Amino acid sequence: MDMRIGYGYDVHKLEAGKELFLGGVEIPSPVGCVAHSDGDVLIHAICDALLGAANLGDIGHHFPDTDPQYKGIRSTILLEKTLDLIKAEHFEVVNVDSTICLQKPRLSGFIDEIKSSLSSVLQCNAVSVKATTTEKLGFVGEEKGISAHAIVLLQKRN
Ligand code: MG
Repeated sequence: MDMRIGYGYDVHKLEAGKELFLGGVEIPSPVGCVAHSDGDVLIHAICDALLGAANLGDIGHHFPDTDPQYKGIRSTILLEKTLDLIKAEHFEVVNVDSTICLQKPRLSGFIDEIKSSLSSVLQCNAVSVKATTTEKLGFVGEEKGISAHAIVLLQKRN
């Protein structure tokens, strides 16, 4: 069986008055991401993990943040486009695991909604989303930014 593992990581700066999207879900928050797109750090990490598993480069290569067509774009669209790239190589998603690192707000009440949002875009039920603070340490702990890690397993269809 031809299986590939991929890893992705992303960071965005947080600023007051911006929207906070995670996994395609808008989270009520006084701060949100500074970004060219909607700044969905979790989806960006998952896109990089998918591209990495298929050895297709990274999200910046496929969707440059200097390209006006991606200004303000919903990252769920970027995830759909990334899935198309993976499928063109005859891969399907076996499972995804991910961790969002954010000090505030607490995300526990939104995890199920984020998981089902990602599951429907990825056409895969095995999507795990976890969240952690960083115990007030570093840029996440100081509430200056948000980061996300993702790992995926792909299987090549015969
Ligand atoms: Mg990003």
